[in-house]
Amino acid sequence: MKSLFDNARSFTTHVAERAEEFRTLEAGQSPEVLFITCSDSRVVPSLITGARPGELFELRTAGNIVPEYRSDHPTGETATIEFAVRVLGVSDVIVCGHSHCGAVNALVSGGDLSGLPAVQGWLEHAASRPETTTPPSPDLAEAVQRHAVAQLERLYTHPCIAERVAAGTLAVHAWYYEVHTGAVQQYGPDHASFRPL
Ligand SMILES: [Zn+2]
Repeated sequence: MKSLFDNARSFTTHVAERAEEFRTLEAGQSPEVLFITCSDSRVVPSLITGARPGELFELRTAGNIVPEYRSDHPTGETATIEFAVRVLGVSDVIVCGHSHCGAVNALVSGGDLSGLPAVQGWLEHAASRPETTTPPSPDLAEAVQRHAVAQLERLYTHPCIAERVAAGTLAVHAWYYEVHTGAVQQYGPDHASFRPL
């Protein structure tokens, strides 16, 4: 913990070394990508992609679950997606699942979550999608990948996403990231499988 505080305390020194780059951030942001991934600490989008400040707009949720759109029930996730697509005008949305994902493991293993009512309620968002949970997969990697693709379907329920995809100005992608190797795979609708980027 101390090293994290120390690094934060001295961060201005690092910024001063890149003063020009950071000064441009004052003018605003124009990220090209909305990156949706799990809250898992082992997944670091800027590390994976090499993105600099201002280049990735991030949405992180337990299990990278994307709630289906409901106009009568706005959520932080919906607001983040809408802002990225309608205001920032991102050109791509990436939903990135990852190996060893505890949330997806809980989904497929059906463990006792009675002590975690919020987690249980959140996972029920995903459990309502049959392709995520049935048939149960003994292979967590396969389950995570199927789960990531299912989130793309949920993205399409958001009017802002559906409109821009239909207009050909927005593309959505599902990625699978291995936390222990750094390997990234992308889903290809043509072959219905994940392959190395
Ligand atoms: Zn996870």
